[in-house]
Amino acid sequence: MTDTRTPKIAIVGSGPSGCYLAQALLRSIPECEIAMLDRLVSPYGLVRYGIAADHQHTKAISRQFDRLFAHPGVRFVGNVEVGRDVSLDELRACFDAVVLATGLTRDRGLGIPGSDLDGVHGAGAIIRALNAHPDSPERLPELGSDVVVVGAGNVALDVLRFLVKGPDDYDGSDVSDTALDSYLAAPAHRVTLVSRSALPASKGDPQMLRELAQLPRATYRCVDSAEPEPGVDCELDRTAAARVDAVAALTAADRPSAPGPDVSLRFGWTPVRILGSGAVEGVELARGDAVAVVPATAVVSAIGFDPAADALSSLIAALGPDSASGRIETGLYRTGWAQRGPRGAIPENRGYARLVSDEIASDLADGSLPVVADRSGFTGLPPEVLARAIDFEQWLVLEAHERKIATPARARRKHPDHSRMAIIARGAAHTDR
Ligand SMILES: Cc1cc2nc3c(=O)[nH]c(=O)nc-3n(C[C@H](O)[C@H](O)[C@H](O)COP(=O)(O)OP(=O)(O)OC[C@H]3O[C@@H](n4cnc5c(N)ncnc54)[C@H](O)[C@@H]3O)c2cc1C
Repeated sequence: MTDTRTPKIAIVGSGPSGCYLAQALLRSIPECEIAMLDRLVSPYGLVRYGIAADHQHTKAISRQFDRLFAHPGVRFVGNVEVGRDVSLDELRACFDAVVLATGLTRDRGLGIPGSDLDGVHGAGAIIRALNAHPDSPERLPELGSDVVVVGAGNVALDVLRFLVKGPDDYDGSDVSDTALDSYLAAPAHRVTLVSRSALPASKGDPQMLRELAQLPRATYRCVDSAEPEPGVDCELDRTAAARVDAVAALTAADRPSAPGPDVSLRFGWTPVRILGSGAVEGVELARGDAVAVVPATAVVSAIGFDPAADALSSLIAALGPDSASGRIETGLYRTGWAQRGPRGAIPENRGYARLVSDEIASDLADGSLPVVADRSGFTGLPPEVLARAIDFEQWLVLEAHERKIATPARARRKHPDHSRMAIIARGAAHTDR
């Protein structure tokens, strides 16, 4: 039987920040018991459903997180949504501390006239479909011949890479072939990437731009971009200078011509209006007094993420971002994107997880977070929650199944139907044909 003085900690969300937090807690409070809940049958959040399907080297971080669940003090509780299957209050009644690590996944709207026209899509929605997220339609919407991508951060560059790639460029990935084929049946002829920031100050990782340059696809040019004045380059910080160099390589006259769309890069331009009656027809851009109109059949906005509409997300939205502390009130904390907002790559979540782990350890040490004897942790959850929960061994059954049914060119084939995922995880894989 569990020692009644063992701190019981629930982490809501098994994305990178939840996993880093569990790692940190095991170091700072080795005697604690951790239940990591996730609304999905599968763990790892955006590692599985956000990172681009053709970036398997980045998704490989999941192997490091797998090791967590071999620890006897850590339990995966998949298929349980806090706020739907169990309330936050019920959870708090069973655990000494609850940490929200629920991320932020709703695409931020453009907030300009025309944003609600047919043909305006969020980058997150496109990338989730390519990753076979069970909440996404299996096919992508028709994007048409002229796609405008708004934003130039890493997610925008993921979208751009997807728009220029051909059918043979996904070997070894776990892309959803249904989503991919629906795009490749009528790929874009022209793509325009629009960034408010000038190129040096834009957000994209130079490595992501270099990857585009090395891909033998698409033809790139910079259009009327706000370039740094001659001689300013030497003042740029290293990342900004690397960005400028990468775009120079991408648009170099001697870059071999390649199949795929014509891509126009417009740095320093602000989209002010999406034009069209009913559906997108173009995007009006402004830079100072200059105005330009880019014809468009679809607009993909990649300008960040917001809290969703559920109760937990509303709580997080009301608190606003806080990089200094994850403490919300006695026994309730948050970490990752739910704490500091939708910024930063996976490794950045580790430092914040350590911060919150230290806060919990210090609250336990000074008695401000009491360990209450009758809190029984996971086993105290309502019976219907225990019945629907998927444990880590069951997830491994689903994971093995996905790898088994993949074609040779794919690392895995994800099932897009969440209830089927649960059935397969419970050991009924033979029914999934
Ligand atoms: C499209 C995209 C691509 C990215 N690509 C990269 C990349 O290539 N490299 C990189 O380093 N970083 C990348 N990032 C950033 C990286 O994904 C984030 O830094 C990281 O995932 C944030 O971790 P998190 O745990 O806070 O959130 P998430 O990864 O979103 O995890 C949140 C988890 O909480 C669960 N959850 C939510 N609500 C509930 C609830 N009510 N009950 C139970 N569970 C719940 C979710 O199912 C999810 O598993 C990308 C981000 C996006 C959006």
